[in-house]
Amino acid sequence: MNNRTLAILKPDCVRKNLIGDVITKITQAGFKVVAMKMTKLNKDTAGGFYEVHKDRPFFNDLLTFMTSGPCVPIVLEKENAVEDFRKLIGATNPAEADEGTIRKLYADNVEQNIVHGSDSDENAAKEISHFFSRKELLENYGL
Ligand code: GDP
Repeated sequence: MNNRTLAILKPDCVRKNLIGDVITKITQAGFKVVAMKMTKLNKDTAGGFYEVHKDRPFFNDLLTFMTSGPCVPIVLEKENAVEDFRKLIGATNPAEADEGTIRKLYADNVEQNIVHGSDSDENAAKEISHFFSRKELLENYGL
């Protein structure tokens, strides 16, 4: 059965003009785009999204990065979406990411790593509702 994950093309992806290249990789891997927008996070919205990391030493740097420019949240659908998307993007640190993964191809470092992907079905549902209203998702239902 198809399920969903949340991707975010991070501010470095937008700045490097890679939105099209990264979406092409994603759709060529069999994911369907079911909702997408461009938005700029602020400290509150980014802090809420990354709340699980609030005690990590890199939390403030992460918020500064994620609020440094617009980003592109995307709801993706595919069988086994969460796991397959994590495989497609590769390890958090691009230096450790497998060849051919999006982070290996495009990311500069462990922080500015081009793309976010949900790490569980439960978090995917939460993260999707962070960016998209029920109405926005329902309008695209069955795409
Ligand atoms: P992900 O699930 O692969 O995105 O990785 P995590 O959930 O562990 O971390 C969330 C995000 O925080 C990463 O995608 C990076 O942008 C950033 N991050 C993770 N580890 C570090 C780190 O050691 N230093 C810095 N500056 N940022 C980090």
